[in-house]
Amino acid sequence: MRKQIVAGNWKMNNGLSQTQSLITDLRNQTKTSDAEVMISPSFTNLWSAFDTLRKDDIEVIAQNMHFAEDGAYTGEVSAGMLKSIGIKTVILGHSERREYFNETDELLAKKVDAALAKGMRVIFCFGEELADRKAGNEEAVVGSQIKNALFHLGAADFQNIVLAYEPVWAIGTGETASPEQAQDMHAFIRKTLADTYGNDVADAVSILYGGSVKPANAEEIFSKPDVDGGLIGGASLKAEDFFAIVNAF
Ligand code: PEP
Repeated sequence: MRKQIVAGNWKMNNGLSQTQSLITDLRNQTKTSDAEVMISPSFTNLWSAFDTLRKDDIEVIAQNMHFAEDGAYTGEVSAGMLKSIGIKTVILGHSERREYFNETDELLAKKVDAALAKGMRVIFCFGEELADRKAGNEEAVVGSQIKNALFHLGAADFQNIVLAYEPVWAIGTGETASPEQAQDMHAFIRKTLADTYGNDVADAVSILYGGSVKPANAEEIFSKPDVDGGLIGGASLKAEDFFAIVNAF
């Protein structure tokens, strides 16, 4: 049985006091689904969020990391540093990292390796741009993003990989892939995995959808057989909305 996961991508939002008050709001929500719940505060608030939530059923995860263990990389944070404060999961490959920080598949492969080497779980994001979809190239783009960054891994490594399909045209735009578009792409992703690693691996990997998921559309998207949860941006910044999405399973 694949894990159902709802992860909040807080991006560069919320200082310390806002982070604490959003966490208080989250703790006051009632969870009625079995989905794993994760939130990703900014680096400066990771420790305080982790410390506050250490006994709660909400995992605190990171939005990014560097591939090196340590050294002269001013401004960067390593997997070891994240582990040292208790963080066990990291989001890698978000389209904003790809677009604004020039993160390539090759760089992301190194980050994935570094996270897995530290025993961390990776939520690996990818997705096509609008022009790719208009040209009918969405599967080719997504297939190559996955293969380039992940297909050097061994089958066992996929126990620590969660995939997040996030069509760039749907992120923060209010425009969502239709449940059918999401299902079609998730089925393609699972087949791509199965073709290389076999059905057992493909069936065990959780594939999340991300892109303007809201309380109003979560249930329909999550009802699709290959959609195992969501990576939630804007709606994760309001506790009630976020838990409405969590409870949409
Ligand atoms: C995201 O940034 O990962 C995301 C899915 O954002 P939003 O839900 O706001 O579209």
